Amino acid sequence: MTTFWCELAWLGGDEPEPGVVIEIEGGEIASVGSGIGAPPAGVIPGLANAHSHAFQRALRGRTEGATRDGSFWTWREQMYALAERLTDPETMRRLARATFGEMALAGITLVGEFDYVHHSSAMIEAAREAGIRMTLLDACYLEGGLPSFRDRDAGAWAERVGAIEAGDGVRIGAAIHSVRAVDPRSAAAVARFAAERGWVVHAHVSEQVRENEECVARYGATPTGVMAAAGAVSDRFTAVHATHMTDEDAAALLDAGAFVCMCPTTERDLADGIGTVPGRLTLGSDSQSVIDLFEEARAVELDQRLATGIRGRWSAAELLTGATANGYESLGWPGGGVIRRGAPADLVAVRRTGVRLAGAPASDALPALVFAGTAPDVSDVVVGGRVIVRDGTHVSVDVVGELQAVIGELSR
Ligand SMILES: [Zn+2]
Repeated sequence: MTTFWCELAWLGGDEPEPGVVIEIEGGEIASVGSGIGAPPAGVIPGLANAHSHAFQRALRGRTEGATRDGSFWTWREQMYALAERLTDPETMRRLARATFGEMALAGITLVGEFDYVHHSSAMIEAAREAGIRMTLLDACYLEGGLPSFRDRDAGAWAERVGAIEAGDGVRIGAAIHSVRAVDPRSAAAVARFAAERGWVVHAHVSEQVRENEECVARYGATPTGVMAAAGAVSDRFTAVHATHMTDEDAAALLDAGAFVCMCPTTERDLADGIGTVPGRLTLGSDSQSVIDLFEEARAVELDQRLATGIRGRWSAAELLTGATANGYESLGWPGGGVIRRGAPADLVAVRRTGVRLAGAPASDALPALVFAGTAPDVSDVVVGGRVIVRDGTHVSVDVVGELQAVIGELSR
């Protein structure tokens, strides 16, 4: 039995509870008590990064300083050039391990790795070494991109994905890369395969206006329309981005109880636009231009303010639910991302004495954290009852040293 004392802990309401004691046994929360004095740290459930491409961490700093007239499509050329160099699984494992280490330092306890470079064993090993949970979303990719992204057909994808061994702390899900890369019949085959196994299904949807135009010209339907007709849209479906949606698209996602994964720092960087979240909110670091789910969470509300001139569409608790419980469920871990008896013991301690959060009263601790907190305010991280970050340092990964080494090699 391990006991954690929290000065404040967010148990799901609009305000955190003072003096919470969490007892952990066998990787699960055994009891939650409140009203007990404790040391100075606020505790929230573990954060779920619902959309990640780990390899893109090596692009940080190289692509954001955009050239004139740059766009998603010019960025994609740089991303392909990097992917072309990542043929060696050992290099991928080292890059992913350091990237997942950075995620752990930011309070991320579960990552959804949307993998179209198909280094599944390396990714799984890397997550295990970094101590975080993972849902490996192996992407079906049949057209375009690089040859290494592509499977021959949906049957070949299913055969490959069906053979992946998950193991402790890892679950498998399906991904349909996009309507650019997967035709409607193949998308239907992927959706069926996933439904038979109860897997979640993620897809990039309507990130770009041009993507919508090409899809309508080719299939006579929007990307969401194609996904819905393929049987992919359900309460196990996550539409990643969902930026340029019609009213019918939005209704289809909402009616199905689907998730929408917003990746605002990436969407800003790539000049994609501002979406309206037509579904249950989740959050992702996507291109890894930063790894900070507090930044992603506040951006959902703040970008809406700029776009609409109205404040307060989202409360801090709703944004944090997107970053925790919703993210867990969208990645096939329902019941995670909450502090409750029987939930996985994934916890994040936030320093309330650091310069950014100092002075905020307990009753405002949630808005302070969501609108002013950053990844470096995370002090300790627990996954399944095991401490993986202690006092701001990863217990087993030299995150900075490993990032420098592997990205340095890749840029040579
Ligand atoms: Zn993506």
